[in-house]
Amino acid sequence: MRLLPNPTLFKRLPVGRRAWIVPFTALALFVAAILVLLWFVHRHETEIQLANLRRDTQYAELAITREILAHQEFADRLAGGIASGQSPGSMIEQARAYQALNSEIRNVIWSSADDMHGWSIPSWKDLTAIARERSSVEERERMRRLAIATGRPTYTEPYRDSQDEPYIEYFSPVVDHGSYRGSISMTLSLRTVMQRLVPVAVAEKYRLSLVDAEGRELFSHDTGLETSDWLTQSVSLTLPWRNLVLSATSYKTDSLLGRTLLTGVILIITCVLAWSLWSLRRRVELQAQADSALMASHERFVTVLDAIDSGVAVSDMQTRELLFCNESFSRIFPGHGIGSNGAEVERAFSPLPSQAIPPDLLVDIEGNPAHAQRIEVRDEKSGHWYALRVRAVRWVDGRLVRLTMISDITDRKAAEERSRVQQEKLLLTSRLMSVGEMASTLAHEINQPLSAIANYNMGAVRRLKSDHWKKEDLVSALEKSAAQAERAGRVVHRVREFLRRREPVREPMSINEVVVDVTELIELEAEKSNVQLRLDMGHDVPLVSGDRIMIEQLLLNLIKNGIEAMKQTRVQDRILTVQTATSGGQVEIRVMDRGHGIAADVAPELFSPFFTTKDNGMGMGLNICRSIVELHDGHLWFSANPAGGSVFHFTLPPAIEPAMQS
Ligand code: ADP
Repeated sequence: MRLLPNPTLFKRLPVGRRAWIVPFTALALFVAAILVLLWFVHRHETEIQLANLRRDTQYAELAITREILAHQEFADRLAGGIASGQSPGSMIEQARAYQALNSEIRNVIWSSADDMHGWSIPSWKDLTAIARERSSVEERERMRRLAIATGRPTYTEPYRDSQDEPYIEYFSPVVDHGSYRGSISMTLSLRTVMQRLVPVAVAEKYRLSLVDAEGRELFSHDTGLETSDWLTQSVSLTLPWRNLVLSATSYKTDSLLGRTLLTGVILIITCVLAWSLWSLRRRVELQAQADSALMASHERFVTVLDAIDSGVAVSDMQTRELLFCNESFSRIFPGHGIGSNGAEVERAFSPLPSQAIPPDLLVDIEGNPAHAQRIEVRDEKSGHWYALRVRAVRWVDGRLVRLTMISDITDRKAAEERSRVQQEKLLLTSRLMSVGEMASTLAHEINQPLSAIANYNMGAVRRLKSDHWKKEDLVSALEKSAAQAERAGRVVHRVREFLRRREPVREPMSINEVVVDVTELIELEAEKSNVQLRLDMGHDVPLVSGDRIMIEQLLLNLIKNGIEAMKQTRVQDRILTVQTATSGGQVEIRVMDRGHGIAADVAPELFSPFFTTKDNGMGMGLNICRSIVELHDGHLWFSANPAGGSVFHFTLPPAIEPAMQS
């Protein structure tokens, strides 16, 4: 017998399955051993039970036979007494005493051969009862003849009375000097024989029955308990001539039930064991599948990550140990790889990412990963700029880790810087152009105080020459002259300020003040074009945050466009209104003119660079205006003026610091 699995079959099995052969074989062997053990126990118990049954049945048979034989002897003794002429009185007494002690004896009857003499126990008075329990007349006749013929005692066939009670009758012939004188008969109740003579210990354990020669059951001592199908034993009662069999069948015992229960429990445990082993195997297989799927997905993940240009690194949230980094990361930061300290990489960055984005910023209040954080940093060593996207993610082992995506944005930063410088240059050019365009009006504005100064000076000179001068007049003239010089100086200062090339500065300012300043600058221009400037300043308009010069430039462009749009408008309608108001939490400025308005085909192009409908226009004004507004996080748009002309709107966010609004 081959106990080990076929080696070729074993080799053909997948490696994962081979490991399961040992536990499954062990389980099978364990089950087989338990079953064999149970079978042995069962066989042993059966043998013991059979031996007990055999012994008990023989014991019962012996007990019955011994008593019956004693009864036979007693009957034979009575027959001998009659033959020897004992007095009937003493014999009746003996028989009565004997019957009183042995209740299975229903009656003892002496009847002479001619049936003329006789006595009976009980007495003849109970004849009906006696007759009912006796064998049939024919049977008695047959017995009598048999007794006469053989001169030996005999039994009738077992019989039942009208109440179905089983009996047997014993005939002992009275033979005197070879002649038959009659017989002593003794009726035995088989029920009482069984109930009284079978030892109680045996009766309790077995279902006992008495079976006749034809196999008919005469009596059974049945307690109603369930009997075993196979633990049964029969033994013949050694009564003369009659083949009565005592049969005993074992009741089902608790041990049998216990064993069946035990077998059941063992089988259930085995099934549970096999099932759990099976499901464990399933789980391990699934785990292995999941592991290989995870491995494949990890490989895909690494391949994809290695293919991208940005550096990707995963580091422990607290220790900053690098748990993963892709090829780009290793390329950007040579010498840093898995296991090295992620904080080392960032040491030269300004600002320091671990301080700018601390771990608390990466998780929400429940401790789950929050939104990604973005930061742009400069590597002070190399001068490179990097964009960092940092977020917390759950790592394969369940802990939260810091995922950093890092892209080199040095080129973009340089382009942005170039564009910023160009934009600045453009703005300056635009301002220069505005001033150039306003040169005549500015000249006029400066000329006026200059002429006034000349006049005051001439007047002073005249007075000094005439010798009729008063000190007060001279002082007043010179003061006025100085005031005019100051006025001219202010104009020059404002123009210089307007044209100064400088870094944009954001500061809180009152938009109403800016509007007033700008209108002062353009006033003469408006006058020249016969345009009325109207200011409609909103009260309680909050301060806005922005670069003052840029906002002035923006307003100047829009107002100039408005004035230019009204060239064809009737003089009395040439009104340009500047409105300031608060709208939806923002400060809104509207420049409203009554000019020719904006044609539908022109509208989409209006803000495009170099778009102009004017002969000498540059087409950059509105484009610059939009850049300025967007730089200040505002919006610029236009609409039709209901009174004719157009309205240009722009919004600016209010300055956040309430303290600055005072
Ligand atoms: P430019 O003034 O040099 O033409 P802009 O960018 O300032 O450049 O304006 C572009 C075009 O938009 C102008 O040529 C004009 O056709 C139109 N436009 C600008 N402002 C107004 C306005 N207030 N009313 C009507 N059309 C305007």
